[in-house]
Parts: sequence; structure tokens; C-alpha cells
Amino acid sequence: MYRVILKATKMAQNIVESVLKEDDSAIDATLGNGNDTVFLLSRLKNGKVYAFDIQKQAIDNFKKYMDENKISNVYLINDGHENIKKYITSRVKAVMFNLGYLPGGDEKIITKPETTIKALTDSLELLKPGGIITIAVYSGHDGGEVEAKAIDEFVGKLNPKKYSTMTIKFTNRNTAPYLIVIEKNDNFDEGK
Ligand code: SAM
Repeated sequence: MYRVILKATKMAQNIVESVLKEDDSAIDATLGNGNDTVFLLSRLKNGKVYAFDIQKQAIDNFKKYMDENKISNVYLINDGHENIKKYITSRVKAVMFNLGYLPGGDEKIITKPETTIKALTDSLELLKPGGIITIAVYSGHDGGEVEAKAIDEFVGKLNPKKYSTMTIKFTNRNTAPYLIVIEKNDNFDEGK
């Protein structure tokens, strides 16, 4: 059956897909099992994907996948996304965040409000006009609600002349992840 309302992570991919061109570059801020990186790769034939994760295991697993599939245009970064600007100076068309803990992994390793907000602040600067940030937000685990609140507040205060933001949320599923989308308005450029 064809469905319009999809889970947050799939909605995020559909929205990012609508702005990406083959030569763009993009960031997966939370590599994990690599679903968003694989999606970005499939759309960016010539561009680069930068993928961050603090868990070495996630980086090593994806390195193996790259070797097996002869992929060379992904830059794997075993560091927190709060350090994004240490590694990336050129502009990107999309940044994807999938927060919380890695399903099937260590549930104690979670994204945190301060580092997520720092990463979002820097991502806004790196974003090309017309570019998109997606954030799949989870509030159901310990610490999730605090992070969700901090992000909602941060995004809600963004200057509407510079950014358009939207939340897509199930209204009949309490702890289902929700999606925040930030678009950098086309006529706005912080000048880099
Ligand atoms: N998109 C991933 C996928 O396709 O499997 C799922 C991501 S999972 C929900 C969240 C990931 O964020 C975990 O792998 C975790 O290690 C990572 N993480 C936690 N804090 C981080 C940080 N400060 N910087 C980068 N990654 C972080």
C-alpha cells in the first residue's frame, strides 16, 4: 500500500532527496548503522558524504562496508558532531541528525542536548542557501525528553527571515520519534 505518512527517518530522507543534486556534499551527523549515509551516497554520485560517530564500532563497520563496495567518497569521522567545524570548511546541502541511542547497541550512549545544539549551530553556518537540516528526535528514552525540549526551543528561536522550520509529528503515537526540518532560506547567506 502506498503511504504518505511515514516514520520520521524515512520522511527525513524524502525531504533531503528533494533538494540534493548529484554534485552536492552532505553530512550524516550520527552514522550509527549507516542508513542515512547509504541513502546520501545513493543520491550523491559526485559529491562527498561526511559521517560522524563517537562509537568506533560504527565507524569500523562502515569502513568495512565501504571496502566491500569500493566506496571512496565517504569521509568517516570518529568524533562528536559538536566538532563538525574542525573537519568541514566547505558548504553542504544537507545535514541529517538521527538522535538518541543506536538500536541494538549500547543504550547508554546517547546524543546530548549541549553537543547536539553546538552541532546544529555549526551546521546552520555550513549549510548552503536552500539547504536542509533534518533532525529525527526521540523523547522515549532516559534523557530524550530533555534533549527534545532543548532542540525545540533552539529551533523555535531561529530567525524566520533566515530559516524556515517545521515539525512533523505523529499526534496519535506518544513516544514515536518526530522530525524537525530546517531550511536555510534561498536569499540568505551568512557569507563564507
Ligand atoms: N542514523 C543511524 C543509523 O542509520 O543507524 C542511527 C543513529 S543512532 C539513533 C545515534 C548515533 O549517534 C549512535 O550511533 C551514537 O553513537 C551517535 N552519537 C551519539 N553522540 C554523538 C555525537 N556527539 N556525535 C556523533 N555521533 C554521536
